[in-house]
Amino acid sequence: MKQNNVLIIGGGASGLAAAIVAGRAGARVTLLERSDRVGKKLLATGNGRCNLANTGAPVYFGDAAFARAVLAHMPVSQVLRFFEGIGLPTRPDASGRVYPACNQAAAVLDVLRAQLDALGTRVVTQGEARSLRPENGGWRVSSSRGDFQADQVIVCCGGLAAPKLGAADAYPLLTDLGCKLLPPAPALSPLETEKAPLKGLSGLRLPAVLTLCGDGAPAACAQGEVLFADYGVSGVCAMQLARDACHLLRAGKKPVLYIDFSPALGLGSYVMGRQSPAVPGENRATLKRWLDLRRQTLPGDPLLGALPRLLREKLQKTPPAELPGLLCAYPLAVTGVRGFDQAQVTQGGIDTACFDPATMAHRRLSGLHACGEILNVDGDCGGFNLQFAFATGLLAGGHAARAGHQ
Ligand SMILES: Cc1cc2nc3c(=O)[nH]c(=O)nc-3n(C[C@H](O)[C@H](O)[C@H](O)COP(=O)(O)OP(=O)(O)OC[C@H]3O[C@@H](n4cnc5c(N)ncnc54)[C@H](O)[C@@H]3O)c2cc1C
Repeated sequence: MKQNNVLIIGGGASGLAAAIVAGRAGARVTLLERSDRVGKKLLATGNGRCNLANTGAPVYFGDAAFARAVLAHMPVSQVLRFFEGIGLPTRPDASGRVYPACNQAAAVLDVLRAQLDALGTRVVTQGEARSLRPENGGWRVSSSRGDFQADQVIVCCGGLAAPKLGAADAYPLLTDLGCKLLPPAPALSPLETEKAPLKGLSGLRLPAVLTLCGDGAPAACAQGEVLFADYGVSGVCAMQLARDACHLLRAGKKPVLYIDFSPALGLGSYVMGRQSPAVPGENRATLKRWLDLRRQTLPGDPLLGALPRLLREKLQKTPPAELPGLLCAYPLAVTGVRGFDQAQVTQGGIDTACFDPATMAHRRLSGLHACGEILNVDGDCGGFNLQFAFATGLLAGGHAARAGHQ
């Protein structure tokens, strides 16, 4: 049986998974990576812990139906079995986020690289693929390290987020072959807001509930830790609203972020336990009741006293009657979303329509595959992006190795 010659472009999460599976299935694998080493971004994921999957219900955007179809063919249990099989035990936390049991992103990269070595995979670094074209029933790839020929090609070049960690515009590799590109934009990125209400708050970090409204109507809600910066707000829960903020800004729908500080005031369990998005008015009534109760039992101004110092100083001059309202719905007009250099993931990308979610193979161009973030799929925080990258890499690697032999 002829051994397939598989070229993988991009040595990130999806490319590494694809290379290992293809090598194990008997293919001769070359991995082409434009940076000086593979897997740079993996080391920075999950704050150095690498949140590599999520056992909960999938939360995807862009072509979410395609993402669900991929995960039907390569469920999270199989992704975790793959890691277990290469020597990386994993563990989910209470919310379903899966991390390596040792909590080290470096361990994830170590086991992936050890597998490449064990399989004798040819890894070509500082090799940027520049064009891709069909030739003699296979593919020719021109790169900064010369030309390569392969029976099967897997494009795993990621999106535009985090250029310092290797992201580069590789979309032309696929658009030149007729694939459609949906405009890429930063997702999971900090929000830029009007500056005056932020004055004095930079550096403040506290739990809150965020409601993003467009033209006064609630559009999205997130809760968790918020970090104030001099340009706006950051932290996972603010970043989760970037996608909706982008859409509202594009539609000219004046986005305003309302920050509900009640979790920082000890009302967290009430707010966190609610099913529906936080409605500022409803929280205001609760906060007022809570405040009345505290006023009966504590001397001075109990409300301000319960706040972190920076917020307390900021609100000191607010008339007492306005305080509950401000603390439940502190308004910040959103003026933008931070760029790709601060984003964790890209929304938009190559249209999934011409790829098969069972194999990641192009439906018309035989021997071509695409995986991971380069596609028009992005996931919520919590491991969904790496899970999609690994799942697509595993599917494509297996298919590319077996193609023509079934
Ligand atoms: C700071 C940070 C933290 C994150 N944390 C998490 C997390 O905890 N959980 C999670 O699920 N997601 C996380 N993400 C998102 C996740 O890392 C990405 O979605 C995922 O890595 C995408 O995998 P990929 O293989 O598609 O692309 P990448 O991992 O980006 O890999 C693409 C590779 O292709 C190379 N390349 C690009 N163009 C070319 C070319 N022309 N020729 C050759 N090589 C090329 C790049 O150098 C890169 O190595 C995080 C992202 C960032 C930036």
